[in-house]
Amino acid sequence: MKKRAPLVVANWKLNGGTDLICTSVASFLNQSFKAEIGIAPPYVYISDMVSFLRNSKIMVGSQNVSKFASGAFTGETSAQMLKEVGADFCLIGHSERRQMFLENDASCHTKIERALAAGVMPILCVGENNQQHELGLTHDILYRQLHQALPGLELSGKRLCVAYEPIWAIGTGKAATAEQVQEVHEYIHQELIAILGTEAADSVQILYGGSVKKDNAAELLAKPHVDGLLVGGASLDPEHFAQICAIA
Ligand code: PGA
Repeated sequence: MKKRAPLVVANWKLNGGTDLICTSVASFLNQSFKAEIGIAPPYVYISDMVSFLRNSKIMVGSQNVSKFASGAFTGETSAQMLKEVGADFCLIGHSERRQMFLENDASCHTKIERALAAGVMPILCVGENNQQHELGLTHDILYRQLHQALPGLELSGKRLCVAYEPIWAIGTGKAATAEQVQEVHEYIHQELIAILGTEAADSVQILYGGSVKKDNAAELLAKPHVDGLLVGGASLDPEHFAQICAIA
């Protein structure tokens, strides 16, 4: 069951700069899309992006957020700061942050709480690695990630998304098949019901990420439990990303 218009989010990672912002903004301002669209550039470009896109419906977000609210935490950016500069959403627990910056399920939980309290929509990223995938442990990994990051949240009137991003599909050109994604998203939805209750769970959009391109976007989005896409590499080419958004 589709909950609302699909959400297509660009994750620029540590890429892009003023040039990419200008070309992206130019290509998006001239078009209208049925899908909801979000772009997550590196932190330092969020303000510029927000002001360039202020007359559009395109959302701007961050790729991370601090688990702290304020204080002596060098290099951190709080949810409240993101809100103040106009960010609409933030990615939380992306596998690159889990693998390279030691983020864990507990820090994801705190970050989600901070984002919700600040009015910034959290997009929790979950997914198994290749070995876990091969061993058939996908559900176990997702169970742990969801059950540790999501319980006890105050969600009333707030929006939350979950992005399923199998690590073996990220940046590899080897996307999960639409059938695999549908099966996993159904499982995620079932666990969301167990954690949040049916009403809240039904409002959570479940995105897929991992080698999404214009060639596989339609097939993925046609699946009933795929509510949107999180796009890395292909989002760095504004024309390609716009094509994915147009398909959605
Ligand atoms: P990819 O990255 O589209 O380049 O595979 C997706 C992501 O990491 O969010």
